[in-house]
Amino acid sequence: MKLRKVTAASATALALALAVTACGGDKDSDSGSGGGSKIKIGIKYDQPGLGLKQPDGSFSGFDVDVATYVAKELGYQPDQIEWVETKSADRENALARGDVKFITATYSITDERKQKVDFAGPYLLAHQDLLVKTGSDISQGTDLNGKKLCSVTGSTSAQNVQKTIAPKANLREYSGYSECIAGLQSGAVDAVTTDDSILAGFAAQDKYKGQFKLAGLKLSNENYGIGVKKGDTATEDKINKALEKMVSDGSWQKAVDANFGPANYKNEPAPKIGQIVQ
Ligand code: GLU
Repeated sequence: MKLRKVTAASATALALALAVTACGGDKDSDSGSGGGSKIKIGIKYDQPGLGLKQPDGSFSGFDVDVATYVAKELGYQPDQIEWVETKSADRENALARGDVKFITATYSITDERKQKVDFAGPYLLAHQDLLVKTGSDISQGTDLNGKKLCSVTGSTSAQNVQKTIAPKANLREYSGYSECIAGLQSGAVDAVTTDDSILAGFAAQDKYKGQFKLAGLKLSNENYGIGVKKGDTATEDKINKALEKMVSDGSWQKAVDANFGPANYKNEPAPKIGQIVQ
């Protein structure tokens, strides 16, 4: 009698397990059509307010919130997201290789990048600026040629310095902005240059409070897009719909307030999908 009961219980457990497996197996893991077991999303790990890996292993920032919302619209719950670090110079290759389904990593839409990847969005408009030490005399109108500027390899920020902003600047290129910030603090560089959204996040960190200031220059227009593999128009279309919904249901503004509020970053209004500000 006792044995029979155990057997019945095990049979029920087995039946349940099979049902769960069948359910999971039903769904396509990486199609982006919804409900898959995992989705890999590329973000930055070292940009406070945008994409930051916390000491406890969790992730925070505007890009993280946008990506989480989009993933949900594609059928993936937050616990089905696998975050992958995609540094500035790695983004096109990560998409081409299929390492990630999409990238939400302060990724500006440019014609050059569009030869290799496709973009949904834009979902934010930022501007290139300079971060300097509080006492610095660098400001609007300062000739940056000859100054030690730090930016990141593979970024539009580094490219803009070389092409237009200050071709004769002494440009240091690192693989992430956190390394540039360390250089600014130590005095190894005169300024860090990239999007104002990113710089505001660093300046507001407790450990840097009062040490740095933004110059307040709008050196470029950076239209943030969500990168997808070249030709993956199905995902691009779904992401565009998700972004439109995120704005219309108020979630976009909520994410802006939560992530940019603490840095006192005054962002531009939500862009229209498909409209790039040149
Ligand atoms: N938004 C610029 C870019 O896509 C600079 C920030 C970054 O490197 O991610 O290159």
